Amino acid sequence: MIDGQTRTCGVIGNPIKHTISPLIHNSLAARCGHNLVYVPFLVEEGKVEEAVKGAYALDILGMNVTVPYKSEVIKYLVNVDSLADKIGAVNTLVRTEGGYKGYNTDMSGLKRAMSGEGIIIEGEDIILLGAGGAARAVAYLCAQQKAGAVYMLNRTIEKAQSVADEVNKAFGREVIYPMLLSDYDKLPDKKFLAIQATSVGLEPHDDEVIIEDADFYKKVHTGYDLIYKPFNTRFMKLVVEAGGKAYNGLKMLIYQGIDAYELWNDVRISDEDAEFVFDSIKKKMGL
Ligand code: NAP
Repeated sequence: MIDGQTRTCGVIGNPIKHTISPLIHNSLAARCGHNLVYVPFLVEEGKVEEAVKGAYALDILGMNVTVPYKSEVIKYLVNVDSLADKIGAVNTLVRTEGGYKGYNTDMSGLKRAMSGEGIIIEGEDIILLGAGGAARAVAYLCAQQKAGAVYMLNRTIEKAQSVADEVNKAFGREVIYPMLLSDYDKLPDKKFLAIQATSVGLEPHDDEVIIEDADFYKKVHTGYDLIYKPFNTRFMKLVVEAGGKAYNGLKMLIYQGIDAYELWNDVRISDEDAEFVFDSIKKKMGL
């Protein structure tokens, strides 16, 4: 029941209607018996600073940040966790003295989700599609987890080049190789783990996919799409049609949510509670 002591958390982004974060956090609050509600906030372009200051003034406990504000939000925070700062993208704001501190739980969430599926990054050659906030986090994860070569393909090559320079410098070795998206046919002739980290194919554009060419998918043994809505993306279908295994980003989303919830409430969510939340969300989404 909402009463005078209820704490509020939420997510800012644009668009925001597709978010299932309220389901995750409200399920966690119910499961843990916390007096907390979590709501979506649509924030228009140019209004991020006002949104962050307004949230703080309203005593909002914690916020998530989604597309397209994960980099822009950094300048409105009082502190940024060193890993999130390195990544250059923040998806979680934690209330502290004088303002919010930023974290990036996308990376830890993806790592927990992938290892749960038995996907090992260490020593693996990887195709990373995209160079935005999510792809940047994935690039750090791959470097940190000692991936082999990571080919980062992006429509805007300068962005991929800049992420590659930053990550390679941070880890002191050549691990990220930037490539123009349209040069995908120049990839080495072998099988890869492919991580789809662009926003192409996101509902309502279910029929869109970052690369149409069926030949590309012959080089993919495992496809991991960060998109979770639709549940079975066009990218995943093309991977499976070419004989590979495919996963969506729902588990990553749930684990990044759990990590954020743990930071806001200073609790540890058990594996059993995490499974409960995953099952209840699948049910609520009709999956
Ligand atoms: P972002 O920073 O806006 O980056 C978008 C990326 O998509 C960029 O690489 C951009 O390329 C590319 N892109 C967009 N439209 C394109 C088009 N028409 N053709 C080619 N490339 C295009 O977004 P983000 O925060 O990284 O998020 C990316 C995706 O990951 C979203 O779909 C989001 O829902 C998903 N995500 C999932 C989770 C999860 O927990 N499962 C977490 C975070 C994000 P340019 O650089 O050339 O513009």
